[in-house]
This record gives sequence, C-alpha cells and structure tokens, in this order.
Amino acid sequence: MRSILPRTIQGQLILSHLLVSLISIALISIYAAGVLYQAGRAQVEKQYTDLGIAAANELVEPLRQYTADQVTLETLEALLHRRLDRYAELHYTLFQPSGNPLIDKSGVMPSTAEPEIRQALQNDSGKVSWIGTDAQGSRRLYLAVRLTDGEQALGILRLDVPLSLALDASRRSLGLLIATALVVALTMSGVGFFLARSIAEPIQNITLASERLAQGELGARVEAPTVPYELDRLAKTFNSMADRLQLLVSELRSFVANASHELRTPLTAIKLRVEALRSGALEDPPVSERFLAEIESEVDRLSKMVSDLLDLSRIESGLDTSKKTTLDLGGVVADVYETFSVRAERAGVEMKMEIQPDVPAVLGNEDQLRRMLYNLVDNAIKYTHRGGQVILGLQTGQTPDTLLLTVKDTGFGIAAAQLPHVFERFYRVEATRPRYGPSQGSGLGLSISKSIAEAHGGKIGVESQVGKGSTFWVELPAHKIS
Ligand code: ADP
Repeated sequence: MRSILPRTIQGQLILSHLLVSLISIALISIYAAGVLYQAGRAQVEKQYTDLGIAAANELVEPLRQYTADQVTLETLEALLHRRLDRYAELHYTLFQPSGNPLIDKSGVMPSTAEPEIRQALQNDSGKVSWIGTDAQGSRRLYLAVRLTDGEQALGILRLDVPLSLALDASRRSLGLLIATALVVALTMSGVGFFLARSIAEPIQNITLASERLAQGELGARVEAPTVPYELDRLAKTFNSMADRLQLLVSELRSFVANASHELRTPLTAIKLRVEALRSGALEDPPVSERFLAEIESEVDRLSKMVSDLLDLSRIESGLDTSKKTTLDLGGVVADVYETFSVRAERAGVEMKMEIQPDVPAVLGNEDQLRRMLYNLVDNAIKYTHRGGQVILGLQTGQTPDTLLLTVKDTGFGIAAAQLPHVFERFYRVEATRPRYGPSQGSGLGLSISKSIAEAHGGKIGVESQVGKGSTFWVELPAHKIS
C-alpha cells in the first residue's frame, strides 16, 4: 500500500508542523467563537439595557402625567421617538402594566405582551432579557425594563435588536483571531521548513557520500554539521569509518603488491636454475646437483612464506583465538626453551630462562602463544653472534593484572631508523648487515607475533641498540578468574 505521507523527512516535518498548527487553530477558534459570542452578546445586552434604563427613567414622569391624563398619548409618543429613533436597528414597544401595548416604533401594535414581559414586572431588578423570534421569523435579543413610580407600576419598555448585532461584534474579533492564527500557522510551517532542512540536508549529504563510497570513491567524506548533535556524530562516525576503510584498502593493496613481489623472487631463482639445467648444466653432475639443492631451498622458502601468509590471515581473521584456555605461560616458555637449546648450543649462543614464580595465568590459544615466542627466540638466536646470550623472561607486568614476556639478546641490534618497521609484513633488515648474507626469513615472523599478541588483547614492542642487542617484550592481560 502506498503511503499518503510525504516520502522525505523534510516533507513529513513540514506536514506535521502544518497539521499541528491547523488543528490547534481550529480548536482555539471553536472555543474562542463561543467565548466571543457570549462576550458580544453581553456587550450588546449591556449597551441596550443601559439605553433602556435611561429611556425608562426619562419616561417615568411623562407616563405618570399621561396616566393622570395630564399629557396626550401623542406627546408621550413624540418623546419616545425623539429619544430612541436614532438607533436604526432598535425596535421598541411601550406596554401598560396590564400587558397591553401602548406605543410601538412601527406604529403597528403587537398583541399583548409575552410572559417574559410580565416577569419584568415582578422580579427585583425590574429588567429581563431573552432571545426570541419576531413576526418575520428572525432571531432578536429582547430587553424589558419596568417603569415604576414609587410602589406603583406605570408600564414596561421593551427594546429589541437583531441578534446578528451580537454576532457581528464577535465575528469581527473572531476574524482577527483567525487571521492572527493563520499567520502563526504559516510562520510555524516556515520554522518547520528550516528545521526540516537542517535535518534533511546533512542526512542527504551523508547519503550522497555513502553512495560515492559504495561506487568505490574511497576519498568521499562529509562535512560534519555542528547541529543537530546526533547528525554531527553520525557524520563524524561516517568519516572515521571511511578513513579506516581507505586505510585498510591501501594496506591490502600494498600487502598484495608486497606478497607478489616476495613470491616472485624465489620463483625467478627457480626458473633461472631450471633454464640453466636445460641448457647444458644437466650434463655436469656437480653443477646440476648444486642447482637442484638451490631449487630445493627456494621451494622451501616459498612454502614457508605461503604457510606464514596463511597463518597470518587465519590469526587476523580471529579463527584460532576462539580456542582459548587458561594457561600457565611459564610452561610454554620452558617448552620453547627446551626446543631451542640444541640449536642455541650449535650456534654458540648461551640461553637462559628467568621465570618469576607465581605469575598469573593467561586466557589464550596455546599453539599461537607458543608460535609467537618461537618466532622471537628464533630471531634472537639467528641475529646473535657466537658467544652471545639469549634470555627468556616471564614476570608480572607493571600492573598486577598483566604479564610481561621478554626475549633479550646480546646480538646485532636494530638501528633506530628501522625499529618502527620491524613489525611490518615482509620487512627485513638485510641492508644493514650484508656480511651475514640474505635472510632466509619471510619477513613475516614479527608481524605474525604482533597479530597473536593483539588477538590476545596484548601489546608487543622492542628496544634495541646496534651492536649491543635487542629486547623484544610482550605484555598480556592476566586471566581474571571471577
Ligand atoms: P624474518 O623472518 O626475516 O626474521 P621477522 O619479521 O621475524 O622476519 O623480522 C623482521 C626483521 O627484523 C628481520 O629481518 C631482522 O632483521 C629484524 N630482527 C628481528 N629480530 C631481531 C633480533 N632479535 N635482533 C636483530 N634483528 C632482529
């Protein structure tokens, strides 16, 4: 079903402002019309009651004289005409106390007075008002005032005016009220329009930027509005999300470029050897033996790199970290120490282990943590001279809820300029130490270790000095047993 509501926020807000103001105007007008009509009627009633009382007071003496036959009916009539004929809308009739009409403005006498008139003779105030219908059927406001001389009733003066007089007065005020209300309604719609625009415009900008981003324009950003606060936050969040996306995409691109480059190097070496074998080297057994050994080592290097890449992607996608258990890291350190002791001995490197008793346990994936430590110790032995030393340490961290794992060596060290890069993927510090030949490493070991530390909510870092040695450290959160 199609909604009859406007489809845009702007349209909906304007419509709601307009509806609210129109409904309020209608309700106020209905209420005000009643109040104004009552007020109009009261005003007309008062005006003509005052007139009636004044005229009645002036008539008392002449009427008394007429009753005593001292003046004629014409004199009385002339007096009444002179006094009241200037009010065009007004009609009047003078009744005798018996209820019989004596004088009428039109000259045509009505029949006897209605019961309301007789009431005027009896009630305390001596006056009464009511709404009635005249002979032509139009509604009129009637007023009757009693004329008395002391205790003696002399007659009743009845005035009547069209009821529309009262309506006219209230209609004018009501017209003014509605006009004002319409101006208010229009102003409110205008306010609604600007308010709606201040909301709709930023939303539209964010939508446009999202569309551009979706089409691959990674530099698309929105200008954050200062108000409303919610949209300002939305725009800023969108921008930081786009920043992050752009960074990730560029990291991914450089990763793919680096990986392709790294894989191409051993492949080129293999291809060259194969070509050499084809073009005659096969005939020479010692040479072909050497080439085959080189091909084998390149294939090993390739497969190590591919498996490192797979591990890295698995760790970063968080698959293995789900297999976490409560671990005593001291055991893991001792295991790795065992694994490397023969190799260290062969390399002429002394290996030591310093494990503080009672270090807290960690919640982690044992295989991954072992892999992390393995990489660090492997490097430490690889990059340390004969006669050097490697120390594996485990202690409580700076705060009791952390653990500090250290691998310290007295090896070559890393230059300050290269330190910030050693955890990057494929980064190798070969240039600084040509005498040790090209590294057989993939340049992925430390980035794998970093991913593992971070997947455990920890941090990894290094302090190093060229010629003195390096200390790699990993800080991990202790497992809180709740
Ligand atoms: P690789 O597999 O090449 O060792 P890594 O990511 O493990 O790659 O290390 C990156 C680079 O950091 C290495 O090429 C090496 O030059 C340097 N490095 C790592 N550990 C040490 C260390 N203990 N002492 C000196 N240099 C190190």
